[in-house]
Amino acid sequence: MTTRTKIRKKLLAAHRKLRELRMLAKGLVSTRHPVLVHIIPIRRCNLACTYCNEFDDFSKPVPLEEMFQRIDRLGEMGTSVITISGGEPLLHPELDAIIARIRKNGIMAGLITNGYLLVADRIQALNRAGLEYLQISIDNVNPDDVSMKSLKVLDQKLKLLAEHAEFQININSVLGGGVANSEDALTVAHRAVALGFTSTVGILHDHNGQLQPLGPREQEIFEEIMSLGKQSFTRINQFQHNIAKGLENNWRCRAGSRYLYICEDGLVHYCSQQRGYPGVPLAQYTDEQRHREFLTKKGCAPRCTVSCVHQTSAMDFWRAPQTFAPGATPPMTAAENLVQLTGPSNRPS
Ligand code: SF4
Ligand code: SF4
Repeated sequence: MTTRTKIRKKLLAAHRKLRELRMLAKGLVSTRHPVLVHIIPIRRCNLACTYCNEFDDFSKPVPLEEMFQRIDRLGEMGTSVITISGGEPLLHPELDAIIARIRKNGIMAGLITNGYLLVADRIQALNRAGLEYLQISIDNVNPDDVSMKSLKVLDQKLKLLAEHAEFQININSVLGGGVANSEDALTVAHRAVALGFTSTVGILHDHNGQLQPLGPREQEIFEEIMSLGKQSFTRINQFQHNIAKGLENNWRCRAGSRYLYICEDGLVHYCSQQRGYPGVPLAQYTDEQRHREFLTKKGCAPRCTVSCVHQTSAMDFWRAPQTFAPGATPPMTAAENLVQLTGPSNRPS
């Protein structure tokens, strides 16, 4: 990497930090805008991880004009951050234009990808589009029947990112049910830090969707990766620690208000695991509806592991008790079979 590139990276990082501080201040002053939105430009994925319920192998990309309308509407709402998710968003042929439109609206732009399609030119195009954050989840060191998102396969991509990317990169590893070798998470996390990336860890739950405590060695690994991740906000850490121990959390989920999940059909959902609620088209989702959801208690909150919504909601933990009954809120069901990640997003890719 040239000195010029290094300086440019530092300047961009400083600018990003400034924008993050502005986002925090705006979120503390007003509860009337979404802080984080996940948006899906394509449901199709080029992989098929066996635990995943967020992809298919046939969907077409959402037309660019529709994506622009959705992003502009989120801009009007005052949204602070949009993270593009999927499926595999790099399969969308006009992803760069989508990112640029997010930035044009003054919104911070993030991307969650499985990384398979990244090459040097693609990374440089993401730089030019104005991408600010990228997350890849790596599930194991060697590919297995559950997941091909392996350090062995993706290490070349990580090196390319370290060389070319001007945006911030987070590598997420996973622990818990279904992970064959928990030591892999530690290997992945150390590799991420060695390459200058941030590192987070997510917990994979069993097929009954229940919070299961991690075993003693897994808990040690979890603690070590959390310390590598430099996450210092105590309340957020406590949420993660409780999940690791299989304990319930007492918190106010602000999904449907401060956090929105916009599916490929342009409908607003609470989160990736509670799709269908409220299930309203974004274009018709009013300020009043968002305010109502801000004050609506979610029945699924105590056993929820969707850490990105928790992090977003932490901004308002001290205010506005939720007084509306969880009428439309579903009880935790099979959808509770959550694969949840720490860090900027909860999606597994
Ligand atoms: S699953 Fe979690 S994030 Fe989603 S609506 Fe329930 S409490 Fe909120
Ligand atoms: S976890 Fe990510 S990479 Fe795996 S199938 Fe789901 S969307 Fe695709």
